[in-house]
Amino acid sequence: MDETHGSSDGQNTTERKRKDEPKTNLIIFGPPGAGKGTYASKLAERFSIPAIATGDIFRAEVKTGSVLGENVADYLRSGRLVPDEIVNEVLKNWLNKPESGRGFILDGYPRTVEQAKALDEMTRIDAIINLAVPDEVVVERLSNRRICRSCGAIYNIKYSPKPKVDSKCDKCGEKLYQREDDKPEVIRERLRVYEKQTEPLIVYYKKRKAKFVTIENIQVDAPIDIVLQRILDGLKKAELR
Ligand code: ADP
Ligand code: ZN
Repeated sequence: MDETHGSSDGQNTTERKRKDEPKTNLIIFGPPGAGKGTYASKLAERFSIPAIATGDIFRAEVKTGSVLGENVADYLRSGRLVPDEIVNEVLKNWLNKPESGRGFILDGYPRTVEQAKALDEMTRIDAIINLAVPDEVVVERLSNRRICRSCGAIYNIKYSPKPKVDSKCDKCGEKLYQREDDKPEVIRERLRVYEKQTEPLIVYYKKRKAKFVTIENIQVDAPIDIVLQRILDGLKKAELR
């Protein structure tokens, strides 16, 4: 937990942060398939801060067969949300790690208003990057998505970035796999869940605009580098980076 946490002297906190702390606490937000993971990892690399993806954490736990993994497996398989208490606990543990001290980017959290409220108690957020993508694009994209087993790189076998050799990672040569929840029926369920439980968060955060910057409506209908530039421009305009 950082020192500025809980401080209520709005303006001063902001000024002090800009001068002394290059900390940037970001949320990347958007429907499944918007490319949250792709842009989170690009921003993480660029700013040398960790990307925290709750979905990745859960998938890793399922794989190792931990108690947590056993508790969340059914939710992941069906595309439903893991209960707030479980997710909030995972996040709290993560934010207590020293790596999060220089800033972080959250990918896939918060996903409910309850989680957003819990996050408010845990730390300060500087900006929310909101990705926008039409539903019909989501299903098409996700069903063609493949991920590297070893390094987590994300590919798309029909669109970009295509792996150079089919089903092998360009970066490390390992095999690519398809996520169990990237099947059409489950994708549609994830979209329903997003609309019902996660989209209302946009309104929640709009109401709290004074507290941080919202970089809104980033259209992800362009090549990755262009979308990344749109995000970076937004951050720059907000004088965050
Ligand atoms: P995507 O954003 O592409 O749908 P994620 O990898 O972020 O995928 O999440 C995969 C699954 O992990 C979700 O469908 C859900 O079951 C679970 N999950 C991840 N993050 C959360 C969260 N913040 N709250 C509840 N469930 C979550
Ligand atoms: Zn790889």
